[in-house]
Amino acid sequence: MHHAVPADYRPAIDALRDRVVLVTGAGDGIGRAVAIECARVGATVVLLGKTQAKLEATYDGIEATGGARPAILDFDLGTATVAEFVGISESLHAEYGRLDGLAHVAGVLGVRTPLDHYDAKVWTQVLAVNLTAPFLLTQALLPLMRKAPDPAVVFTSSSVGRKGRAFWGAYAVSKFGQEGLMQVWADECDSGSAPVRMNSLNPGPVRTAMRLEAYPAEDRDALHRPEQVAPAFVYLLGKDSAGVTGAAFDARPA
Ligand code: NDP
Repeated sequence: MHHAVPADYRPAIDALRDRVVLVTGAGDGIGRAVAIECARVGATVVLLGKTQAKLEATYDGIEATGGARPAILDFDLGTATVAEFVGISESLHAEYGRLDGLAHVAGVLGVRTPLDHYDAKVWTQVLAVNLTAPFLLTQALLPLMRKAPDPAVVFTSSSVGRKGRAFWGAYAVSKFGQEGLMQVWADECDSGSAPVRMNSLNPGPVRTAMRLEAYPAEDRDALHRPEQVAPAFVYLLGKDSAGVTGAAFDARPA
């Protein structure tokens, strides 16, 4: 069963006040919009991504709107070691002492081809970025998240992560994997005084570089913009979804 973010949800201006939120893929597309929206509603945002210049552009976007000063983590999720993930946790601990929110938005598409012919190297790369990295990053950050009063993790899913579809290969399998990760962790974390909430969110079709790569010929004007789906992430990261965990959500943008 899938849940829907309340239709046309608009977070209050203080929805994430006093929260520290890490957003992966914050240099482009949906992740950039999520980072900017989190900062707009009060969060201090840690911007993680592969390309420093793109993260700096997001940083400037947040500074321009008067948000709290973000941090930049220039980091390749596809090649990082366990020790490097733990290093992120250590530096965030030193800087902030806790982590309130974690949005796994970074992702890669891989190739659109039948599984019969799917290239093994691409398979490994897609699974590394889209599944192993969210696992290792969450694992490394959970001790820090348990220091926060209402910690929440959001995994970015896809419609092909809920029902398999031809030619979506490793991408679809990685998204199914994220759903599984979310459910297992939600079950394990659903106790204690401040359980870490875990949910997944399917943003639906959004006008980004990845969508263009997947559907080069479609009418892009008919798609939602990243800014329209970003509030759904805030919903799952903040108090408006208090107590909700282990659920698969669909965004319902305005
Ligand atoms: P984009 O391609 O626009 O952005 C992807 C982001 O992930 C980029 O910022 C990219 O950084 C980052 N990234 C990729 N590889 C790595 C890596 N190895 N290490 C660190 N960061 C990395 O994609 P979208 O915004 O469209 O997608 C965001 C999420 O939403 C993905 O998880 C995607 O699967 C999901 N999604 C998107 C849909 C859509 O229609 N757009 C629909 C359903 C789900 P850089 O630019 O520096 O490479």
